[in-house]
Amino acid sequence: MPEGNDLRIYEKMKYGFCEFKMIDADVCRIDKIPIIRSFVDNYDFFPTLHVCFRKKGGNNCSKCSKCYRTMLDLVICGEDPNLYGLKYEDGDLYNIIDQYSYHRLEDDTAFMDEMQNKLIKNSNDLALYEELKWIIDYDPFAPAMWSPKQINPKWDKIVIYGAGNAGRDYVRLIKPSWKIVMVVDKAWDTMELLIEGYRVRAPEEMVYRSFDKVLIAIDDDKARNDVKQRLILEPGIDEEKIYAEKPVKKYGGAKFLYFH
Ligand SMILES: [Zn+2]
Repeated sequence: MPEGNDLRIYEKMKYGFCEFKMIDADVCRIDKIPIIRSFVDNYDFFPTLHVCFRKKGGNNCSKCSKCYRTMLDLVICGEDPNLYGLKYEDGDLYNIIDQYSYHRLEDDTAFMDEMQNKLIKNSNDLALYEELKWIIDYDPFAPAMWSPKQINPKWDKIVIYGAGNAGRDYVRLIKPSWKIVMVVDKAWDTMELLIEGYRVRAPEEMVYRSFDKVLIAIDDDKARNDVKQRLILEPGIDEEKIYAEKPVKKYGGAKFLYFH
């Protein structure tokens, strides 16, 4: 059974004497944008695109995955979504990144593929290329990874507390972009010697090293808070230097880590 934009469906559709015709059936979604753009250039008129499957009446909610996908298509083609009936504000790119990172998007593989190809093609002409680069790295089939909810790009030196599954993922995600000073765990002497190339050390050793933030990579709320309180008491870590937000599962692959 075909679904969505399929010629076999269009050919069977009837409404009174109207026939439905499908044009550009062989054009992928993102390649429709330059065609629409040439219409804009010819007629000096921006059409409103109706893409949303959430909002009734033909408008766009600008918040669902389909609106987000369309906004990304437009931005990748150098267009302003606001001119095409979508509401796109500064910072929305991060909402879109969040949307993509919190859900497994195997169904979107085809769309991800075309976006990646187009982005590579347009990379030289796009002002937003740096912000959009994560799309190229996004892997819809990569397993979910534990990740800190947010991370400040300004943190220079990071300590990871916890050498279990969450800690291991934190290290893999953070290593390419930040300096990991050390990995510590209360049970350091019973654990594997190395995780992701880092020696697991005793938390007491933290006082001998300078760092900006210690990230507690523990999913269990009680255990994570206990660690936080313990670090404040002994060895006396400044509370401001402790990041104890609950870890989240993110999709898209290890290279996919952008925070705001
Ligand atoms: Zn929508």
